[in-house]
Amino acid sequence: MDKKKISAYEKKLKTEKERLTKEIEKYSEAEDFGADIDHGDEEADESESYSNRMAMASDLKKDLNEVDMALNRIAMGTYGVCARCKKEIADEVLDVAPESELCANCKKMMR
Ligand SMILES: [Zn+2]
Repeated sequence: MDKKKISAYEKKLKTEKERLTKEIEKYSEAEDFGADIDHGDEEADESESYSNRMAMASDLKKDLNEVDMALNRIAMGTYGVCARCKKEIADEVLDVAPESELCANCKKMMR
């Protein structure tokens, strides 16, 4: 893949990584805040929103992991190659999701 293209995707991925890291921090802070204002009556609501936040944070961590792996692939020089069929991943796929490790065909197969 073209080096210029890769560095453009790398930039996107780094921006995304920053965003995800901040989001995860936000959810962790919300957790502490929630503990401070905890009242006995609202315990059920609190624990529900707590598990929602945990679910959100865990989704974000998964996304962050994918972004990290994509940045690793850039470092290794294997970025833009499908992890399953080893063909090049189309630009259209990477433009939408630069962290993709599968081409459009394989994504369909995995569904
Ligand atoms: Zn593929």
